[in-house]
Amino acid sequence: MNDQANSYDIVIVGGGSAGIATAASLLIRRHWLNIAIVEPKEDHYYQPGWTMVGGGIFVSAETIRSEESVIPDGVTWLKDEVTTFDPDNNSVNLKSGGSARYKSLVVAPGLKLNLTAVDGLAETMGKNGVTSNYILDSAPYTWELVQKFHGGKAIFTQPPLPFKCAGAPQKAMYLSCSEWESKGILDDCDVEFCSAGPSLFGVADYIPPLMEYVERYNANLSFSHNLVAVDGERKVATFAVTDADGNKSRVEKEFDMLHVCPPQCALDFVANSPLAADNGFLAVDINTLQSTKYPNVFGAGDTIATLNAKTAAAARKQAVVVAENLLAEVDGNELMSLYEGYGSCPLTVTKGKIILAEFGYGGKIMSTFPSWMNNTFKATRRAWVLKADILPWVYWNYMLKGKEYFAGSTKKKEEH
Ligand SMILES: Cc1cc2nc3c(=O)[nH]c(=O)nc-3n(C[C@H](O)[C@H](O)[C@H](O)COP(=O)(O)OP(=O)(O)OC[C@H]3O[C@@H](n4cnc5c(N)ncnc54)[C@H](O)[C@@H]3O)c2cc1C
Repeated sequence: MNDQANSYDIVIVGGGSAGIATAASLLIRRHWLNIAIVEPKEDHYYQPGWTMVGGGIFVSAETIRSEESVIPDGVTWLKDEVTTFDPDNNSVNLKSGGSARYKSLVVAPGLKLNLTAVDGLAETMGKNGVTSNYILDSAPYTWELVQKFHGGKAIFTQPPLPFKCAGAPQKAMYLSCSEWESKGILDDCDVEFCSAGPSLFGVADYIPPLMEYVERYNANLSFSHNLVAVDGERKVATFAVTDADGNKSRVEKEFDMLHVCPPQCALDFVANSPLAADNGFLAVDINTLQSTKYPNVFGAGDTIATLNAKTAAAARKQAVVVAENLLAEVDGNELMSLYEGYGSCPLTVTKGKIILAEFGYGGKIMSTFPSWMNNTFKATRRAWVLKADILPWVYWNYMLKGKEYFAGSTKKKEEH
């Protein structure tokens, strides 16, 4: 392909939640933009649905659509993979051997599930009672294990931050317990939540309502327990444990069922690029989402080095900020749109009820709905209906189409 044909106004790396939403938000502002999305996969996933697959509420197929069907009209799909960034030459290099040139770049390739960081995990995932809702092929196995479980030891793990959807590791536990409770076998289930972190949830306001369900299910909480090895055949999980005095040890726990949230990190090609922050994720201004290294580069979604909850809900807001600020940068104007760290975790504490946690940077509560419609600190049926019926529809028909209801950005105040 000649150089002219491979040049675009905007190249977007990644056709996931953030990449597609950003393309759509750019096009509703300037429909004539020449945009290319680089995305190697044939399928696009609604990952928030995978918790529901593991809970037997959705089937996998409901969470998958073809990539072709979600790429906005008029956008060029480069079915390829970015291998390296060359921001000094406004270009990305592709696995096929070619490159794509841009005036502006949006980086949105998500993050890496780092299964190999836990000895033996990759080998035993999806068998021997070891599962994860974070992997589409394994999420139905979670539900299979839950149904076959007639008592015994069930362990649910949470790795150190960062990982996507801060609530998903414990959502898996609650939905499993809810099923065992409804079958009347909960008393025979020894349930343990082993988290590398120091508390049940990162935003303290949500801990008391969550604890009601931890107590209801009689689940044991083990903090500062970081999963480091799994022996699937022996059904033994090994944790690196730090006690209150800072003493470190290794503890082995036998299990009948093990649900793992795998450790997560930046993708290698982002971490090894000139665009990376010290932790390997994309270095951006936390409010404007502009690269701190190259002004014509922006980032959205799980790939950015910001301290929000990495969620599709966050990407929905970030897409709008990136679209507005990228176009302002092209026009030589000040970047006026600000992302305030919004993320959302619908915590499925029991089948039919959800605590809808919505918060921004520093744990600031950012509820979409007034408290008379939905009390954010209480498990409600309304929030369940939102998660199970409304949000998937909003995702496919609004977020990926540039319809930005409830997603408007905060505007920087003009200085006089
Ligand atoms: C079990 C689970 C439960 C969740 N629950 C919720 C929830 O309840 N609510 C919520 O809001 N969010 C939830 N999330 C999180 C949410 O799904 C993610 O935060 C969101 O998908 C991030 O979007 P993204 O575009 O950054 O990444 P992704 O959607 O993962 O997309 C990244 C895309 O980039 C592509 N890519 C990767 N490498 C390259 C490359 N080299 N070149 C080109 N393309 C590349 C990938 O193929 C992929 O299509 C959940 C996630 C999981 C796994």
